[in-house]
Amino acid sequence: MAKSDYYEVLGVSRNANGEELKRAYRKAALKFHPDRNPGDKEAEVRFKEVSEAYEVLKDEKKRAAYDQFGHAAFEGGGPGGPGAANFDFNFGGSFADVFDDLFGEIMGARRGGGGRGGVARGADLRYNLEITLEEAFNGKGATIRVPTSIACDTCNGTGAAAGSQPVNCSTCAGRGKVRAQQGFFTIERTCPSCQGIGRIIEDPCGACAGSGRVQREKQLSVNIPAGVEDGTRVRLAGEGEAGVRGGPSGDLYIFLSVAPHRMFQREGADLHCAVPLPMVTAVLGGQIEVPTIDGSRARISIPEGTQPGRQFRMRGKGMPVLQGNGRGDMFIRVAVELPKNLSKKQKELLQEFAAAGTDESNHPESHGFFAKVKELWDDLTD
Ligand SMILES: [Zn+2]
Ligand SMILES: [Zn+2]
Repeated sequence: MAKSDYYEVLGVSRNANGEELKRAYRKAALKFHPDRNPGDKEAEVRFKEVSEAYEVLKDEKKRAAYDQFGHAAFEGGGPGGPGAANFDFNFGGSFADVFDDLFGEIMGARRGGGGRGGVARGADLRYNLEITLEEAFNGKGATIRVPTSIACDTCNGTGAAAGSQPVNCSTCAGRGKVRAQQGFFTIERTCPSCQGIGRIIEDPCGACAGSGRVQREKQLSVNIPAGVEDGTRVRLAGEGEAGVRGGPSGDLYIFLSVAPHRMFQREGADLHCAVPLPMVTAVLGGQIEVPTIDGSRARISIPEGTQPGRQFRMRGKGMPVLQGNGRGDMFIRVAVELPKNLSKKQKELLQEFAAAGTDESNHPESHGFFAKVKELWDDLTD
């Protein structure tokens, strides 16, 4: 039987560009792919034809040779066509560019690969866990419930009914992969009979319908160490979904978030806290009490003449250092609060205070500022 013309096989014109070729190939390959047409010999032949046509036409050098010499360009692997021996026929290449996404469409959720004989590994799971800052400070043992699939105990995860065993797949002899001839190339692909698992279940387990796993809520105890930070990810190996028919389990990832605290802002192991300070305490000095993350209180001595925004550092009153020693510090920033809604008496006292007069040492900042302002005005009037 004479070989069909490559352009006709793909249904494109002789001057089709690369994009048009790729589109035509994708369309035809999707239509005739063996996984979509099990047992259909005609589709298999068409699939091989379009793959071979695309393999040649997508390569500028091969396409030029084909345009000049036709199929003869590639026959005999050498003498038939000029330079034919130099052609780098790499079927894997076209799979990589076109089939990456194509396989996604064809295979859908089927998961191949992954370990021995292509047994499907269970999916990884994510669990979001929010804790308070106090819990991050103390560390915490938590019990979490994760909806997942676990190995079926009726069949011990094999998927085969009691008294029966999965048997080796005869299509691939248990390898999970089959070799196929595609034009000049031999390619290996996932066995269509066993989906890459290598074994076939003739008598499926009733409890799990042959999948070897059942949906269940799994309860896990998790130990959260003191000092964890927002965004910490904890991996529990093998605690994800069970694999299909005895495949390895996935992992469970716990994503920790630390809820914002009403008093403290965290910065690494340090804590920051803004504390309002009455004017008189700031002016005359005194003591204030502040809460600490360990649930107790600490006293701070406020020196006379404390200005707004001043920061006090309390060593070792911050968060524990994760997997380390000691604790960070706590920083207290004071916000001096001026009194308002004064009574008549209070106003009189303040007026009396003002009348007593103030000097440069009472207000060094404003004195310096107004001195500069005066200089500026003097310069302008010169
Ligand atoms: Zn079962
Ligand atoms: Zn097989």
